[in-house]
Amino acid sequence: MNGLAVEDLHVSFGNVRALAGMTFRVEPGQMVGFLGPNGAGKTTTMRAILGLVSVASGGVRWNDRPIDDAARRSIGYMPEERGLYPRMKVHEQVTYFGRLAGLSARDARDAAASWLERLGLGERLTSAVQDLSHGNQQRVQLAVALVHEPRLLVLDEPFSGLDPLAVATMSSIIAEQSAGGTSVLFSSHQLDLVEGLCDDVVIVDQGRSVATGTVGELRAASPLRIVRIELEHEAADDAAWPPHIADADVLESGPLRYRARVTREMEPADVLRAIGPGLVLRSFSVEPPPLSEAFLEAVSRRGSRP
Ligand code: ATP
Repeated sequence: MNGLAVEDLHVSFGNVRALAGMTFRVEPGQMVGFLGPNGAGKTTTMRAILGLVSVASGGVRWNDRPIDDAARRSIGYMPEERGLYPRMKVHEQVTYFGRLAGLSARDARDAAASWLERLGLGERLTSAVQDLSHGNQQRVQLAVALVHEPRLLVLDEPFSGLDPLAVATMSSIIAEQSAGGTSVLFSSHQLDLVEGLCDDVVIVDQGRSVATGTVGELRAASPLRIVRIELEHEAADDAAWPPHIADADVLESGPLRYRARVTREMEPADVLRAIGPGLVLRSFSVEPPPLSEAFLEAVSRRGSRP
């Protein structure tokens, strides 16, 4: 299979078991959101892919072969502790990393300039990195990850601390890379953003993957559903509104809007029957919960959450 395969990785630091059987794949053109609570093992997994930690057992394969140094040099990596030289100038820096990844001097200079322009840093090419804001330093770090046209992007929390405009730029570039066939693995704690950006997610906890699939599959697998009802007009009869749904966990109950958590077994028809007569509905839905809830269920099943 082409792409990245992480297979049964075990990594320990002293007596801390950081990875205990981490397994998942990222195919060419797939964009995978790598999610998990603090300390779940996301950064360690990424560092293992890059060969930066020593692995006790298991392995990493790239295009169906054990990953080697040459393959690793071609990865576009954005580490969590950003790895830029603070005093080096922006364009010089990205060019330097392009050279390290094997580009000719000219190709590295051209690619660096074009990515920095695209990332909105065209005016800052000769600024020292340390003089840039946090968000702009992050853009430089993304330019470093992209300068050599990698076929695998490994991005450790690329969105942390970015303003909405920078998030939008970063998202569209990552999506474009994936559409061009690059395998993309990125970690994030911003689940609403992940839900909008990628189809596939791997949820990890305590050093291993606990749920893998599309956002839609993971949401649908939740034992819960969210009922939403909106009225056109306020109810004239207090007995008719709000609806009385047995065992519903009511999240919102206003004069025109009602929202509650119910179990998956509840049919839309059952909910409709609970709505009193004489009401004009503006909208009505019974849907799986958002990814954030599916995430909490996946990690709490393993007992690491209250
Ligand atoms: P976060 O979301 O907080 O960034 P994470 O999922 O990236 O967390 P890791 O940083 O991979 O988690 O950490 C996994 C476990 O390994 C944690 O218990 C952490 O304390 C431990 N760990 C990671 N790196 C080291 C290290 N160099 N020395 C000792 N323990 C480490």
